[in-house]
Amino acid sequence: MTQRIHNFNAGPAALPLPVLEHIQNEMLDFRGSGMSVLEVSHRSKWFEDVLDDTIVRVKRLLKLDDRYHVLFLQGGASMQFCMVPMNLAVPGKPVDYVDTGTWSTKAIKEARIQGLDVRVIASSEADAFTYIPKEIPVDGKAAYLHLTSNNTIRGTQWPAFPDGAGVPFVCDMSSDIFSRVFDPKPFGLIYAGAQKNAGPAGVTLVIVRDDMLQRVPKTLPSMLKYTTYSEKKSMYNTPPTFAIYVVGLVTRWIEETVGGMEKMEAVNNQKAALIYDYIDSQNFYRGTAMPDSRSRMNVTFRLPTEELEQKFIKESLAEGLGGLKGHRSVGGCRASIYNAVSLEGVQALVQFMKEFARKNG
Ligand SMILES: *Cc1c(COP(=O)(O)O)cnc(C)c1O
Repeated sequence: MTQRIHNFNAGPAALPLPVLEHIQNEMLDFRGSGMSVLEVSHRSKWFEDVLDDTIVRVKRLLKLDDRYHVLFLQGGASMQFCMVPMNLAVPGKPVDYVDTGTWSTKAIKEARIQGLDVRVIASSEADAFTYIPKEIPVDGKAAYLHLTSNNTIRGTQWPAFPDGAGVPFVCDMSSDIFSRVFDPKPFGLIYAGAQKNAGPAGVTLVIVRDDMLQRVPKTLPSMLKYTTYSEKKSMYNTPPTFAIYVVGLVTRWIEETVGGMEKMEAVNNQKAALIYDYIDSQNFYRGTAMPDSRSRMNVTFRLPTEELEQKFIKESLAEGLGGLKGHRSVGGCRASIYNAVSLEGVQALVQFMKEFARKNG
Protein backbone atom coordinates (compact mmCIF):
# COMPACT_ATOMS: atom_id res chain seq x y z
CA MET A 1 0.00 0.00 0.00
CA THR A 2 1.44 3.36 -1.04
CA GLN A 3 1.77 5.95 1.69
CA ARG A 4 0.62 9.39 0.55
CA ILE A 5 0.99 12.57 2.59
CA HIS A 6 -1.30 15.56 2.84
CA ASN A 7 0.47 17.81 0.34
CA PHE A 8 0.46 21.55 1.09
CA ASN A 9 3.10 22.41 -1.52
CA ALA A 10 2.77 25.79 -3.25
CA GLY A 11 3.63 24.48 -6.73
CA PRO A 12 4.06 22.02 -8.24
CA ALA A 13 1.33 21.01 -5.90
CA ALA A 14 -1.22 18.37 -5.00
CA LEU A 15 -3.25 16.74 -7.78
CA PRO A 16 -6.59 15.04 -7.11
CA LEU A 17 -6.04 11.37 -6.26
CA PRO A 18 -8.72 10.20 -8.74
CA VAL A 19 -6.80 12.03 -11.48
CA LEU A 20 -3.54 10.29 -10.57
CA GLU A 21 -5.32 6.93 -10.50
CA HIS A 22 -6.92 7.64 -13.85
CA ILE A 23 -3.50 8.41 -15.35
CA GLN A 24 -2.12 5.21 -13.86
CA ASN A 25 -4.98 3.10 -15.17
CA GLU A 26 -4.67 4.17 -18.78
CA MET A 27 -0.91 4.66 -18.81
CA LEU A 28 0.13 1.62 -20.83
CA ASP A 29 -2.70 1.61 -23.35
CA PHE A 30 -4.17 5.03 -23.90
CA ARG A 31 -7.79 4.61 -24.99
CA GLY A 32 -7.11 1.71 -27.30
CA SER A 33 -4.08 3.24 -29.00
CA GLY A 34 -1.72 0.54 -27.75
CA MET A 35 0.59 3.35 -26.60
CA SER A 36 0.79 5.58 -23.57
CA VAL A 37 -0.46 9.15 -23.84
CA LEU A 38 3.19 10.16 -23.56
CA GLU A 39 3.89 8.36 -26.82
CA VAL A 40 1.00 9.29 -29.12
CA SER A 41 1.47 11.90 -31.83
CA HIS A 42 0.12 15.36 -31.11
CA ARG A 43 -1.45 15.19 -34.58
CA SER A 44 -3.27 11.93 -33.78
CA LYS A 45 -7.00 11.58 -33.22
CA TRP A 46 -6.24 10.49 -29.65
CA PHE A 47 -4.52 13.72 -28.75
CA GLU A 48 -6.88 15.88 -30.76
CA ASP A 49 -9.76 14.51 -28.66
CA VAL A 50 -7.83 15.32 -25.47
CA LEU A 51 -7.20 18.88 -26.62
CA ASP A 52 -10.79 19.49 -27.76
CA ASP A 53 -12.24 18.05 -24.57
CA THR A 54 -9.93 20.14 -22.39
CA ILE A 55 -10.82 23.37 -24.21
CA VAL A 56 -14.55 22.66 -23.90
CA ARG A 57 -14.24 21.95 -20.17
CA VAL A 58 -12.17 25.07 -19.47
CA LYS A 59 -14.72 27.20 -21.33
CA ARG A 60 -17.63 25.60 -19.50
CA LEU A 61 -16.05 25.91 -16.05
CA LEU A 62 -15.17 29.58 -16.53
CA LYS A 63 -18.40 30.39 -18.43
CA LEU A 64 -16.46 31.79 -21.38
CA ASP A 65 -18.40 32.84 -24.47
CA ASP A 66 -17.29 32.35 -28.08
CA ARG A 67 -15.09 35.44 -28.08
CA TYR A 68 -12.59 33.69 -25.79
CA HIS A 69 -9.87 31.36 -27.01
CA VAL A 70 -8.22 28.80 -24.74
CA LEU A 71 -4.54 28.41 -25.58
CA PHE A 72 -1.78 26.20 -24.20
CA LEU A 73 1.71 27.68 -24.07
CA GLN A 74 5.06 26.87 -22.54
CA GLY A 75 7.49 29.08 -20.64
CA GLY A 76 5.39 29.26 -17.48
CA ALA A 77 3.45 32.21 -16.15
CA SER A 78 6.79 34.04 -16.19
CA MET A 79 6.80 33.96 -20.00
CA GLN A 80 3.47 35.78 -19.91
CA PHE A 81 5.05 38.65 -17.99
CA CYS A 82 6.84 39.58 -21.24
CA MET A 83 4.33 38.27 -23.82
CA VAL A 84 1.45 40.31 -22.41
CA PRO A 85 3.05 43.72 -23.03
CA MET A 86 4.57 42.55 -26.34
CA ASN A 87 1.18 41.52 -27.67
CA LEU A 88 -1.34 43.79 -25.98
CA ALA A 89 0.29 47.20 -25.57
CA VAL A 90 -1.25 49.90 -27.78
CA PRO A 91 1.04 52.61 -29.21
CA GLY A 92 0.54 55.92 -27.41
CA LYS A 93 -1.28 54.36 -24.46
CA PRO A 94 0.08 53.56 -20.99
CA VAL A 95 -0.23 50.09 -19.44
CA ASP A 96 -1.50 49.95 -15.85
CA TYR A 97 -0.44 47.51 -13.14
CA VAL A 98 -1.40 46.90 -9.52
CA ASP A 99 1.56 45.69 -7.48
CA THR A 100 0.46 43.11 -4.91
CA GLY A 101 3.70 41.16 -4.47
CA THR A 102 6.56 39.24 -6.06
CA TRP A 103 4.74 38.04 -9.18
CA SER A 104 3.16 41.42 -9.93
CA THR A 105 6.53 43.08 -9.41
CA LYS A 106 8.10 40.71 -11.92
CA ALA A 107 5.33 41.40 -14.45
CA ILE A 108 5.92 45.15 -14.04
CA LYS A 109 9.66 44.70 -14.57
CA GLU A 110 9.12 42.89 -17.89
CA ALA A 111 6.81 45.62 -19.20
CA ARG A 112 9.34 48.30 -18.20
CA ILE A 113 12.15 46.45 -20.01
CA GLN A 114 10.14 46.95 -23.19
CA GLY A 115 10.20 50.72 -22.70
CA LEU A 116 6.46 51.05 -22.21
CA ASP A 117 4.74 53.80 -20.23
CA VAL A 118 4.07 51.57 -17.20
CA ARG A 119 1.88 53.10 -14.49
CA VAL A 120 1.73 51.30 -11.15
CA ILE A 121 -1.63 52.75 -10.13
CA ALA A 122 -1.85 50.99 -6.75
CA SER A 123 0.57 49.04 -4.57
CA SER A 124 0.73 47.50 -1.12
CA GLU A 125 4.53 47.32 -1.12
CA ALA A 126 4.88 49.88 1.72
CA ASP A 127 3.04 47.43 4.00
CA ALA A 128 4.93 44.31 2.94
CA PHE A 129 2.14 43.37 0.50
CA THR A 130 -0.11 42.32 3.37
CA TYR A 131 -3.30 43.49 1.68
CA ILE A 132 -5.02 44.11 -1.66
CA PRO A 133 -5.35 47.86 -2.34
CA LYS A 134 -8.93 49.13 -2.22
CA GLU A 135 -8.58 52.36 -4.19
CA ILE A 136 -7.73 51.50 -7.80
CA PRO A 137 -7.59 54.86 -9.63
CA VAL A 138 -8.37 53.82 -13.22
CA ASP A 139 -8.75 56.72 -15.68
CA GLY A 140 -9.82 54.70 -18.71
CA LYS A 141 -6.68 55.60 -20.68
CA ALA A 142 -4.62 52.41 -20.37
CA ALA A 143 -4.30 49.63 -22.95
CA TYR A 144 -4.93 47.16 -20.14
CA LEU A 145 -4.91 46.83 -16.35
CA HIS A 146 -2.79 43.97 -15.02
CA LEU A 147 -3.81 42.23 -11.78
CA THR A 148 -2.54 39.18 -9.90
CA SER A 149 -5.71 37.57 -8.58
CA ASN A 150 -3.98 35.49 -5.89
CA ASN A 151 -0.60 36.27 -4.39
CA THR A 152 0.90 32.86 -3.76
CA ILE A 153 3.81 34.08 -1.65
CA ARG A 154 2.13 36.74 0.53
CA GLY A 155 -1.15 34.87 0.98
CA THR A 156 -3.47 37.57 -0.32
CA GLN A 157 -6.26 37.38 -2.91
CA TRP A 158 -8.59 39.88 -4.54
CA PRO A 159 -11.89 39.34 -2.68
CA ALA A 160 -13.66 40.82 -5.73
CA PHE A 161 -12.29 42.47 -8.86
CA PRO A 162 -12.38 46.29 -9.08
CA ASP A 163 -14.31 48.47 -11.50
CA GLY A 164 -12.00 48.79 -14.47
CA ALA A 165 -13.76 51.74 -16.18
CA GLY A 166 -13.84 49.78 -19.41
CA VAL A 167 -10.10 49.04 -19.44
CA PRO A 168 -9.65 45.33 -20.17
CA PHE A 169 -8.15 43.33 -17.32
CA VAL A 170 -5.16 41.12 -17.85
CA CYS A 171 -4.92 38.74 -14.95
CA ASP A 172 -2.36 36.31 -13.60
CA MET A 173 -4.56 33.58 -12.08
CA SER A 174 -1.78 31.03 -11.71
CA SER A 175 -2.64 30.15 -8.14
CA ASP A 176 -6.42 30.46 -8.06
CA ILE A 177 -7.82 29.61 -11.49
CA PHE A 178 -10.73 27.13 -11.15
CA SER A 179 -10.98 27.90 -7.42
CA ARG A 180 -13.96 30.24 -7.46
CA VAL A 181 -16.72 31.64 -9.61
CA PHE A 182 -16.11 35.01 -11.27
CA ASP A 183 -17.54 37.02 -14.14
CA PRO A 184 -15.10 36.75 -17.08
CA LYS A 185 -16.53 39.75 -18.97
CA PRO A 186 -14.02 42.42 -17.84
CA PHE A 187 -11.07 40.19 -18.72
CA GLY A 188 -9.23 40.61 -22.01
CA LEU A 189 -6.69 37.95 -21.09
CA ILE A 190 -6.19 35.48 -18.25
CA TYR A 191 -3.09 33.38 -17.80
CA ALA A 192 -2.13 30.65 -15.38
CA GLY A 193 0.84 28.34 -14.99
CA ALA A 194 -0.90 24.99 -14.52
CA GLN A 195 1.24 23.66 -11.68
CA LYS A 196 -0.59 25.37 -8.82
CA ASN A 197 -4.25 24.64 -9.23
CA ALA A 198 -4.80 23.17 -12.69
CA GLY A 199 -2.35 20.39 -13.42
CA PRO A 200 1.35 19.61 -13.71
CA ALA A 201 4.24 21.94 -14.54
CA GLY A 202 4.98 22.43 -18.23
CA VAL A 203 1.89 24.13 -19.60
CA THR A 204 0.44 27.60 -19.16
CA LEU A 205 -3.19 28.33 -19.89
CA VAL A 206 -3.86 31.54 -21.76
CA ILE A 207 -7.44 32.65 -22.23
CA VAL A 208 -7.67 35.54 -24.66
CA ARG A 209 -10.55 37.51 -26.12
CA ASP A 210 -10.93 38.25 -29.84
CA ASP A 211 -10.44 42.00 -29.52
CA MET A 212 -7.10 41.46 -27.78
CA LEU A 213 -5.90 39.31 -30.67
CA GLN A 214 -6.54 42.24 -33.03
CA ARG A 215 -3.77 44.12 -31.23
CA VAL A 216 -1.00 41.57 -31.77
CA PRO A 217 1.81 43.24 -33.79
CA LYS A 218 2.67 41.47 -37.06
CA THR A 219 6.36 42.10 -36.34
CA LEU A 220 6.58 39.72 -33.36
CA PRO A 221 8.36 36.37 -33.75
CA SER A 222 5.85 33.57 -34.40
CA MET A 223 6.38 31.74 -31.10
CA LEU A 224 5.78 34.94 -29.12
CA LYS A 225 2.49 35.88 -30.81
CA TYR A 226 -0.85 34.82 -29.31
CA THR A 227 -2.29 34.70 -32.83
CA THR A 228 0.07 31.86 -33.76
CA TYR A 229 -1.49 29.77 -30.98
CA SER A 230 -5.08 30.84 -31.66
CA GLU A 231 -4.81 30.21 -35.41
CA LYS A 232 -3.12 26.82 -35.01
CA LYS A 233 -5.10 25.64 -31.97
CA SER A 234 -1.91 25.63 -29.86
CA MET A 235 -0.32 23.19 -32.33
CA TYR A 236 2.02 25.43 -34.35
CA ASN A 237 4.75 23.31 -32.80
CA THR A 238 4.58 20.30 -30.47
CA PRO A 239 2.50 21.26 -27.45
CA PRO A 240 3.18 19.82 -23.96
CA THR A 241 0.81 16.92 -24.61
CA PHE A 242 1.03 15.14 -21.26
CA ALA A 243 0.52 18.34 -19.25
CA ILE A 244 -2.53 19.27 -21.35
CA TYR A 245 -3.96 15.77 -20.86
CA VAL A 246 -3.66 16.15 -17.08
CA VAL A 247 -5.26 19.61 -17.13
CA GLY A 248 -8.10 17.96 -19.03
CA LEU A 249 -8.47 15.32 -16.31
CA VAL A 250 -8.39 17.96 -13.56
CA THR A 251 -11.16 20.00 -15.22
CA ARG A 252 -13.14 16.79 -15.71
CA TRP A 253 -12.69 15.98 -12.01
CA ILE A 254 -14.04 19.42 -11.05
CA GLU A 255 -17.05 18.97 -13.31
CA GLU A 256 -17.90 15.32 -12.77
CA THR A 257 -16.58 14.39 -9.33
CA VAL A 258 -16.74 17.65 -7.39
CA GLY A 259 -19.89 18.74 -9.21
CA GLY A 260 -18.88 22.04 -10.82
CA MET A 261 -17.33 25.39 -10.06
CA GLU A 262 -19.89 26.48 -7.43
CA LYS A 263 -19.33 23.28 -5.44
CA MET A 264 -15.57 23.62 -5.81
CA GLU A 265 -15.73 27.16 -4.44
CA ALA A 266 -17.92 26.07 -1.53
CA VAL A 267 -15.39 23.41 -0.49
CA ASN A 268 -12.54 25.89 -0.83
CA ASN A 269 -14.39 28.39 1.37
CA GLN A 270 -15.01 25.71 3.96
CA LYS A 271 -11.34 24.70 4.00
CA ALA A 272 -10.11 28.29 4.28
CA ALA A 273 -12.63 29.13 7.03
CA LEU A 274 -11.53 26.11 9.05
CA ILE A 275 -7.92 27.22 9.21
CA TYR A 276 -8.48 31.00 9.49
CA ASP A 277 -11.10 30.56 12.21
CA TYR A 278 -8.60 28.53 14.18
CA ILE A 279 -5.81 31.11 13.64
CA ASP A 280 -8.15 33.88 14.82
CA SER A 281 -9.13 31.94 17.93
CA GLN A 282 -5.69 31.84 19.58
CA ASN A 283 -2.38 33.73 19.97
CA PHE A 284 0.30 31.17 19.14
CA TYR A 285 -0.04 31.38 15.34
CA ARG A 286 -0.40 34.74 13.61
CA GLY A 287 -1.76 35.15 10.09
CA THR A 288 0.38 37.49 7.94
CA ALA A 289 -2.30 38.80 5.55
CA MET A 290 -4.93 41.38 6.51
CA PRO A 291 -8.22 39.54 7.16
CA ASP A 292 -10.11 41.26 4.31
CA SER A 293 -7.41 40.29 1.80
CA ARG A 294 -6.76 36.73 2.88
CA SER A 295 -6.15 34.09 0.25
CA ARG A 296 -8.36 31.04 0.18
CA MET A 297 -5.54 29.17 -1.59
CA ASN A 298 -2.34 30.04 0.31
CA VAL A 299 -2.61 30.51 4.06
CA THR A 300 0.51 32.27 5.37
CA PHE A 301 1.26 32.37 9.08
CA ARG A 302 4.01 32.83 11.64
CA LEU A 303 4.82 31.14 14.93
CA PRO A 304 6.30 32.99 17.94
CA THR A 305 9.92 32.30 16.86
CA GLU A 306 11.81 31.06 13.81
CA GLU A 307 13.08 28.13 15.86
CA LEU A 308 9.51 27.06 16.52
CA GLU A 309 8.69 27.45 12.83
CA GLN A 310 11.51 25.07 11.91
CA LYS A 311 10.33 22.61 14.52
CA PHE A 312 6.76 22.94 13.24
CA ILE A 313 7.79 22.18 9.66
CA LYS A 314 9.89 19.20 10.70
CA GLU A 315 7.32 17.66 13.03
CA SER A 316 4.42 18.25 10.67
CA LEU A 317 6.22 16.32 7.96
CA ALA A 318 6.76 13.44 10.37
CA GLU A 319 2.97 13.47 10.85
CA GLY A 320 2.35 13.22 7.10
CA LEU A 321 1.74 16.93 6.45
CA GLY A 322 4.14 18.16 3.74
CA GLY A 323 5.09 21.46 2.17
CA LEU A 324 4.31 23.84 5.03
CA LYS A 325 7.45 25.95 4.74
CA GLY A 326 6.86 29.54 3.63
CA HIS A 327 8.46 30.92 0.45
CA ARG A 328 12.20 31.43 0.95
CA SER A 329 11.81 35.18 0.28
CA VAL A 330 9.44 35.76 3.22
CA GLY A 331 10.02 32.87 5.64
CA GLY A 332 7.37 31.64 8.05
CA CYS A 333 4.85 28.95 7.20
CA ARG A 334 2.41 28.53 4.36
CA ALA A 335 -0.32 25.99 3.78
CA SER A 336 -1.33 25.90 0.13
CA ILE A 337 -4.84 24.50 0.13
CA TYR A 338 -5.55 24.27 -3.59
CA ASN A 339 -8.54 22.44 -5.07
CA ALA A 340 -6.86 19.04 -4.75
CA VAL A 341 -6.23 19.41 -1.00
CA SER A 342 -9.16 17.74 0.71
CA LEU A 343 -11.21 19.01 3.64
CA GLU A 344 -9.79 16.05 5.59
CA GLY A 345 -6.29 17.29 4.81
CA VAL A 346 -7.08 20.72 6.24
CA GLN A 347 -8.76 19.13 9.28
CA ALA A 348 -5.61 17.07 9.89
CA LEU A 349 -3.51 20.24 9.62
CA VAL A 350 -5.64 22.19 12.10
CA GLN A 351 -5.54 19.24 14.48
CA PHE A 352 -1.76 19.16 14.24
CA MET A 353 -1.55 22.94 14.75
CA LYS A 354 -3.61 22.64 17.94
CA GLU A 355 -1.45 19.85 19.30
CA PHE A 356 1.76 21.69 18.44
CA ALA A 357 0.57 24.90 20.12
CA ARG A 358 -0.45 22.97 23.21
CA LYS A 359 2.99 21.36 23.52
CA ASN A 360 5.05 24.42 22.62
CA GLY A 361 2.92 27.39 23.63
C1 LIG B 1 4.07 30.43 -9.45
C2 LIG B 1 3.55 31.72 -9.97
C3 LIG B 1 4.14 32.35 -11.09
C4 LIG B 1 5.34 31.80 -11.79
O1 LIG B 1 5.01 30.68 -12.51
P1 LIG B 1 6.04 29.92 -13.47
O2 LIG B 1 5.15 28.96 -14.17
O3 LIG B 1 7.07 29.28 -12.58
O4 LIG B 1 6.65 30.93 -14.38
C5 LIG B 1 3.56 33.52 -11.53
N1 LIG B 1 2.50 34.05 -10.94
C6 LIG B 1 1.92 33.49 -9.86
C7 LIG B 1 0.72 34.13 -9.25
C8 LIG B 1 2.42 32.30 -9.35
O5 LIG B 1 1.85 31.73 -8.28
